[in-house]
Amino acid sequence: MRILLIGNGGREHALAWKLSQSPLVDSIFAVPGNGGTASCPKVTNVSSVKPEDYPALVDFAKSQGVNLVVPGPEAPLVDGVEGYFRAAAIPCFGPSKEAARMEGSKTFSKDFMKKHNIPTAAYENFSDYDRAIAYLDRISHNVVIKATGLAAGKGVIIPNNKEEAKAAVKQIMVDKAFGSAGQEIVIEEFLTGDELSILTFSDGTHTLSLPPAQDHKRIGEGDQGPNTGGMGCYAPTTIATEELIRRIEEEVVEPTIRGMRQDGIPFRGVLFTGLMIGSNGPKVLEYNVRFGDPETQTVLPLLSEDTDLAEIMMACTAHEARLDCVKIRVEPKYSATVVVAAGGYPEAYAKGTPMVVKASTSPEVTVFHAGTRLTAEGNLETSGGRVIAVNATATESLEAAVKKAYEEGIKLIQFEGMYFRRDIAHRAFRKSSP
Ligand code: ATP
Repeated sequence: MRILLIGNGGREHALAWKLSQSPLVDSIFAVPGNGGTASCPKVTNVSSVKPEDYPALVDFAKSQGVNLVVPGPEAPLVDGVEGYFRAAAIPCFGPSKEAARMEGSKTFSKDFMKKHNIPTAAYENFSDYDRAIAYLDRISHNVVIKATGLAAGKGVIIPNNKEEAKAAVKQIMVDKAFGSAGQEIVIEEFLTGDELSILTFSDGTHTLSLPPAQDHKRIGEGDQGPNTGGMGCYAPTTIATEELIRRIEEEVVEPTIRGMRQDGIPFRGVLFTGLMIGSNGPKVLEYNVRFGDPETQTVLPLLSEDTDLAEIMMACTAHEARLDCVKIRVEPKYSATVVVAAGGYPEAYAKGTPMVVKASTSPEVTVFHAGTRLTAEGNLETSGGRVIAVNATATESLEAAVKKAYEEGIKLIQFEGMYFRRDIAHRAFRKSSP
């Protein structure tokens, strides 16, 4: 099997890492890939095709006899990349453009949840600025303001009071801080509780979920400071009891996949559901229509060696659509990921800093590259804000996995200005301590 993998983040390195272990896979073309995929077995980074030039990607896939396309990030899926490959009869692991609206339009996904009775925060959608302001004047509860479209994780504003809420609406709808992503907004009830995310494979009918994970979005220790793409993650989590997982499946995952099928937009690919677990149970914060980052780097290492990601992905595509025929085995292990960023991130940071990444000598410690690249001379340098994700697994405990990530994993990485949080999984430890 020949695979075309689109993207250049840590998520894509983790996908390449797991896919390359499949005996079904002969070669993987990463467009454009990064410094990590470049040194992955079976992987070739391709710079001659632009990842957003979909017709050129189709031509490339045809010329190379590609049998499976795996888009990593949301943008190509929301743009409809799956349709380009469907028209060329090349299996693509990911939802159609219509189904990708579950991530591409928050107003759409909120209406979907309401229609199908899927628990989520109470909300109103607005395309008119004056009506949004009048609504804020009428209500007294705390709210969250969300631009409907893709805004690289920045389009969600949590105001402290009514004035800030009005300023956020103005910023999005009048000042167009997020461009056309802010043509419509969702104003929703502010929820409290613990956040959890769950990845679910689906072929449109059957589902298979991976263990829930918790990530750390803030840059600073103690979950302080601005939001980032994610500074660390761990799975499984202490709050995800069997009972809670059952409720998430019954109240959220199954009705979502069923509802999409009923609405004529079957979901094929991997659905990321972001949840808030409050006193009344799980409520959906958001859907993503692809793997999360750093959830992927955290959860894939929990899959057994004989769990074949290429086979799973193929079974989710419209060409096979038989996920029930595939085995997924999750090892009874703990997994922790620590992200190493360039100093200054998520504000301005340096790029092109020379770096050293030593090879891991432990099969339980894996280094996933995100913002790295190889220079023409073959040297490794930084090329992004989140540079590396170090993952460690352990059979004994989550504490052991976290310890290994810091003591064995982080030691493998060296570059000037490197920054990482030292408290990944602190919430799990706080909850499990007496
Ligand atoms: P990302 O792409 O970074 O995952 P996003 O921009 O798609 O995020 P959401 O996941 O909807 O946006 O929200 C981002 C974060 O804002 C959530 O992880 C959560 O911490 C917070 N948040 C969103 N909605 C609510 C809510 N109703 N109540 C409380 N917090 C919320």
